[in-house]
Amino acid sequence: MTIYQNLIGGEWIGSDATENINPSDTNEVVGLYADGSAEDTKNAIAAAKAAFPAWSRSGIWERHVILKKAGDEIMARKDELGALLAREEGKTLPEAIGETIRASQIFEFFAGEALRLAGEVIPSVRPNIGVEITRDPLGVIGIITPWNFPIAIPAWKIAPALCYGNTVVFKPAELVPACSWAIVDILHRAGLPKGVLNLVMGKGSVVGQAMLDSPDVSGITFTGSTGTGRRVAAASLEHNRKFQLEMGGKNPMVVLDDADLDVAVEAAANSGFFSTGQRCTASSRLIVTEGIHDKFVAALTAKLETLVVDNALKAGTHIGPVVDEKQLKTDTDYIEIGRQEGAKLAFGGELISRETPGFYLQPTLFTEATNEMRISREEIFGPVVSLIRVKDYEEALATANDTPFGLSSGIATTSLKHATHFKRNAEAGMVMVNLPTAGVDFHVPFGGRKGSSYGPREQGKYAAEFYTTVKTSYTLA
Ligand code: ADP
Repeated sequence: MTIYQNLIGGEWIGSDATENINPSDTNEVVGLYADGSAEDTKNAIAAAKAAFPAWSRSGIWERHVILKKAGDEIMARKDELGALLAREEGKTLPEAIGETIRASQIFEFFAGEALRLAGEVIPSVRPNIGVEITRDPLGVIGIITPWNFPIAIPAWKIAPALCYGNTVVFKPAELVPACSWAIVDILHRAGLPKGVLNLVMGKGSVVGQAMLDSPDVSGITFTGSTGTGRRVAAASLEHNRKFQLEMGGKNPMVVLDDADLDVAVEAAANSGFFSTGQRCTASSRLIVTEGIHDKFVAALTAKLETLVVDNALKAGTHIGPVVDEKQLKTDTDYIEIGRQEGAKLAFGGELISRETPGFYLQPTLFTEATNEMRISREEIFGPVVSLIRVKDYEEALATANDTPFGLSSGIATTSLKHATHFKRNAEAGMVMVNLPTAGVDFHVPFGGRKGSSYGPREQGKYAAEFYTTVKTSYTLA
């Protein structure tokens, strides 16, 4: 089997490899991918550092052309890359193709942003002096990504890093190297100079840690668990380095008595269970007012009955497998915790066998949960949802905000008054009205508050806040 190698200083290298296993069919090896060392990481950082002066001064047209070319190739290969994504991560083929299209759109967006780089010219408060405010790239950006969006998250970090003139060392999650390898290959062939984009696949504790420990990495953008996020923060403070963290969520979705029942059920089923609940924006807390509670539970469980859990590549599958054995154990451990805490298992909770051996779990709904239970406070990252009954809107809002996290927050209501109040008072980076808490646009800011995020927002033109540093220049006329 071919070994997909690391790209360091423009060369494909590496002979140690690990297997990339398909969670829908654990007999299938998707491919062999390089297992990089700390030495490889150091070499990649040195290559990125050496490439920075020239790339940071490269023309905006060159950056535009390369990013556009990459976006176009990803779009042209959306079915093939989508299938690769579904095989390595386990989300359904339509979800995986959708994510691939999104990655392409992100490259198209930042190809455009490269042509719109601008600053400000401002008069000084002193006579005969001009002031210019411009943005400089940071230098070498370390990119550390999780497994749940194998192509979109790398795209939304790599595209702005390159657009604004930074060079990159990119470390994808161990479970999903294939899509990362594919987009690095595409960008390399699109004409990036040697060393501008380096790929080091390998373990977080080895490759990721070597990035955290390097004084030559000027910025780290990280999406992953809270624990690793804290390590990124501590190591970055030591090096006086800029960092950006996207971590967990325990996103609430409020359903009020006046909600359109169909809209509420569709949004809750999508938010809680699609992509196997493995989205940081997934809604794992449903907060439902008394008047609609029983009707909503009946309609949601009827909807869950219709959802097919099976191989991600099979037509008709709504929910693919859990990503791996470790995550499956986390999910089933939390199901046991929910039972012991006294929540009522209203649907699911069981492992399922399918034609191909994989990590299949029923969508699982706990009702009669309280917001104090561990299943309502801790991020599970699986298809496991707690439903909490509340008296009225005021209690619903207070419950929604009573969480250590603050990524996305949703409400289903036909009341303009409550929708408006909720938008103003939800303690979250993103608010959804009559929509799933997951599912966002690629051209507007993404990110959260409290324990969910740290640093500037990602995506859209707000990405410049992280990937550049502002310079104020004064000139005597
Ligand atoms: P998850 O539990 O979802 O896998 P992690 O935070 O462990 O979340 O993983 C997110 C990313 O962080 C992955 O690319 C992983 O390899 C990387 N990572 C894990 N440990 C470290 C570490 N000590 N230093 C840097 N990166 C790490």
